[in-house]
Amino acid sequence: MNILIIGAPGTGKGTMSEKLIEKYGIVHVSTGDMLRESVKNGTEVGKKAHGYMERGELVPDEVIHDIILERFAQKDMENGILMDGYPRTLAQAEDLDTILASLGKKVDCVLNLELDEQVLIGRITGRRTCPNCKAIYHIQNMPPKVEGICDICGSQLVTRKDDTVESLRVRLDAYHESTKDVIGYYEKQGIVKNINADQSVEKVFEDITEALGECND
Ligand code: AMP
Repeated sequence: MNILIIGAPGTGKGTMSEKLIEKYGIVHVSTGDMLRESVKNGTEVGKKAHGYMERGELVPDEVIHDIILERFAQKDMENGILMDGYPRTLAQAEDLDTILASLGKKVDCVLNLELDEQVLIGRITGRRTCPNCKAIYHIQNMPPKVEGICDICGSQLVTRKDDTVESLRVRLDAYHESTKDVIGYYEKQGIVKNINADQSVEKVFEDITEALGECND
């Protein structure tokens, strides 16, 4: 089953992706991760993408096309694909359909994680991270045992530079702007499933499993 997962920062997309990969044995295709890896390794793609990523802009569609073709050439996708952070534009969505069709595949289901903006702001601004071991806490939902101190390694916790209301607003606007065309494209195909992300992890995943069942019918 080939699934696309869409969700703003703070909707729990990362957690749900991990659970989907584990349950269905599908491969995770995250263009963000692939681009970061290319930048780190100084590849041609990395050199092309670097500036756009630093400015928080979208990397050109041609570059994304190339990394996707390269990724899909690997023969590890029999159980399906979980696409995360891709497609981000209408052109990428159309391109993906063409690439998948050439492999005898298609997008089966689009999971759209929805969360009220106020809840999202609370989730993100309450987040504290450990600069040393990268553990993540939340001042209300998952506080450390000692305020401001990492349970695991004892380091002083910090608020990430981009976990502020102002920065989140910018990221949310960019998110809505870039996803609305993509969601509209798949809505026309009748495969978008809106998931209420303001529930426990277990319940969100249960709803996702049910939605995937409906897509498979
Ligand atoms: P992410 O981790 O998905 O938020 O991606 C980090 C950055 O990589 C984004 O801000 C973009 O600059 C770039 N990026 C990732 N995926 C795409 C995509 N599908 N199309 C264009 N740019 C992308």
